[in-house]
Amino acid sequence: MRILSASLAATLAFAGCTKPAPTPETPVKEVAVTKTIEAPIEAADPRLAPTELSADISKLPENEQQAMRYMIDAAVILDRLFLRQVWSGAEAMGAKLAADKSPDYAKFLAHKGPWDRMSHNEAFIAGAPAKPPQASFYPDDATKEEIEKWIATLSPEQKTLATGFFTVIRRAPDKSLMIVPYSKEYGADLEAAAKALDKAAELTKEPSLKKYLELRAKAFRDDDYYASDVAWMELDAAVEPTIGPYETYEDEWFSYKAAFEAYITLRDDAETAKLAKFSAHLQTLEDRLPIDAKMKNAKLGALAPIRVVNQIYASGDGARGVMTAAFNLPNDERVTKEKGSKRVMLKNVQEAKFAKVLKPIAEIALSAEDKANVSFDAFFTHILMHELMHGLGPHTITVAGEETSVRKALKDTSSAFEEAKADISGLWALQKLVDDGIMPKTYEQTIYDTFLASSFRTLRFGINEAHGKGMAMQVNYLIDEGAFVVKDGKFAVDHVKIKQAVEKLTGVIMTIQAKGDYNAAKAMLEKYAVLRPDTQKVITAMEALPVDIAAAHVTARQLVPGVR
Ligand code: ZN
Repeated sequence: MRILSASLAATLAFAGCTKPAPTPETPVKEVAVTKTIEAPIEAADPRLAPTELSADISKLPENEQQAMRYMIDAAVILDRLFLRQVWSGAEAMGAKLAADKSPDYAKFLAHKGPWDRMSHNEAFIAGAPAKPPQASFYPDDATKEEIEKWIATLSPEQKTLATGFFTVIRRAPDKSLMIVPYSKEYGADLEAAAKALDKAAELTKEPSLKKYLELRAKAFRDDDYYASDVAWMELDAAVEPTIGPYETYEDEWFSYKAAFEAYITLRDDAETAKLAKFSAHLQTLEDRLPIDAKMKNAKLGALAPIRVVNQIYASGDGARGVMTAAFNLPNDERVTKEKGSKRVMLKNVQEAKFAKVLKPIAEIALSAEDKANVSFDAFFTHILMHELMHGLGPHTITVAGEETSVRKALKDTSSAFEEAKADISGLWALQKLVDDGIMPKTYEQTIYDTFLASSFRTLRFGINEAHGKGMAMQVNYLIDEGAFVVKDGKFAVDHVKIKQAVEKLTGVIMTIQAKGDYNAAKAMLEKYAVLRPDTQKVITAMEALPVDIAAAHVTARQLVPGVR
């Protein structure tokens, strides 16, 4: 992303020492980093428009600000752990780049490793191997087939652990495979992060925040994230942290393993209240999904909170390559089945992206008529619906008589499908709300053109990660349906055909998910997740434009000097 990692993480990780955890007798300011930033944001990557991200914390009481400092400290530790997860050689390489004062160091921090995450994971540092698809979740010398065969031999309990979020697979001295929990694999660092969260919990006066921080610290120590995921769902505080192992994109073999990340944010109360009203319509949307009745969820979980926040600091998997604009968590089906999931929208990040990337893209990609329809309100609202729609549609499914999840059944295609589902059904849902008179009719003009412009923002990142694959699949499908048209090299929306095409694609994707049909998912990606010549031409014409933003977390830096 876009967001560079903290030099604190880099400095400490690469010096090989463990960050001293704050202790009660140590004032916060003394443990905070005072080093100057060694690799400036501006040096990271010419494709990223440097952007200062800030939020007004002046109304936040001093004790809550102090708590926030400790949360940032913990986030910095997780940044280092993420790097270790990406590749077993990442920390040593980073140490060398830092010691050599390499001009590539800033880029290495931005991409969390020596591979260009915005250009097909090409290595940009001499001597780097190809990016390992298994990251460091599985042994470097293992093959996907070996892991699959081994998992098939395990008892049900062991199988659950081996395919779980919070374990890595390692080799025993006799070379056999074994399961190692995160608390053991990352023990010292997770303990330091847990101590920082304990300290933040002592400082905050917000009960739900205190509870989350305490339970998350406990989870770092015992690998049981359930209670803290539930506490995160019930968070109701001005400061809204999301910290831990969450997304599984980095495990390109199976999407089983969770990568460390953190978002330390401040709630935007006015926007949160405004957007929460959409939650009231989720069940009626689920009931009308264009799929078989038996594939629908008759009763969605009661909790469907939406939070609109402003990002103070982000790290790890939440701060690599392209900046996350919104997320939907947790991923653990045990929690989502009972509690639903929560959507967090990073508003200040989205505003920055819209201004610095999307508007210039629309200028190049869209016809004169269509680009006039591109608006921040439509952009923001579609991202909201994208996040909402992650909670709808098939999740727990039955394949060959066995209960499983879409994520497990669709394996390496699951992320691309889930992202495409959220995008396309997000458009479908907005149209339904327009039809119902809940949303203004003007959205009919703006949402499709804004989505079209936005799709080019995604496709520029390439099609070898989930969002890019999912987007290419949608755009090509919609072109084949005549809903997107290309004329004189400019893209436009056919406002007559688009509605039906969006509904059709929503049905196709969700039906594959409901059936857990891995072969169909694979075939569809093979056919559509490609960059065709017209699309490629427009992308080439955008070469000089920034691809995303590189955030300097100026508010975080006020609290913890030295972080990026
Ligand atoms: Zn998504």
